[in-house]
Amino acid sequence: MQKKLQQLTDLQTLDTKLYKIEKAKGNLPYLVNEFTREINEIQKVLEELNTDFSDTKKDILDSKATVDESNKLLEKYKDQRSMVTNNKEYEALVNEMAYRENLVEELTLKISESNVNLQSITENIDQQNKLLEEKTETLKEKQKQLDEKLAATAEDEKKLAEKRNKLVAKIDKHLYNLYERIYSSKNQAAVVPADEGHCGGCFTVLPSQKLSELKRGDSIVQCDTCSRILIYSFGNESK
Ligand SMILES: [Zn+2]
Repeated sequence: MQKKLQQLTDLQTLDTKLYKIEKAKGNLPYLVNEFTREINEIQKVLEELNTDFSDTKKDILDSKATVDESNKLLEKYKDQRSMVTNNKEYEALVNEMAYRENLVEELTLKISESNVNLQSITENIDQQNKLLEEKTETLKEKQKQLDEKLAATAEDEKKLAEKRNKLVAKIDKHLYNLYERIYSSKNQAAVVPADEGHCGGCFTVLPSQKLSELKRGDSIVQCDTCSRILIYSFGNESK
């Protein structure tokens, strides 16, 4: 019976190690995904900002061209004004000049607004680029850690799985089934110590009869409350 109990304890130890490896891996793939997602978001934002920048810049250039053209026309109209011979032509010219003067005023205002806009877009682009650089750096780091961890644990996992297979082959079928049932339903802990007089899984204090049963070590003893298999290590007492 001692041998059977030892096998179950060993199985629990192996499973705990495998579980820890799985858990340790769990965080890094999540982080790598998160950072990749964030980087994609930033790249999208940057794309939009760059489009904004080009559009604004083009607007400014177009407006400047119209202002230049209007100023030239205004010069021309001023010369023409003195040569106009009738009222109708004069009125048309004055209207045209007013329209151009208005346009120049409007566009000049627009250009100065666009320049302010351009400045803030540029600052935003700088910020996003900095953020992108930081996130990319962190992603690279996490990816490297994950790759290393995967490479390192692949070996460990394989060895542990092999050991486990060999061990399981030796364990009585009904004991193994009992173990598996408890393991999956009780938070990956099927075999727990009971050295201090209570169940190491749910901490229920064990009745003295149960303790003596445990100490005899000639049967599988389970906690009455959580069903976990209890192990009493004899410590310094004689075996
Ligand atoms: Zn218990």
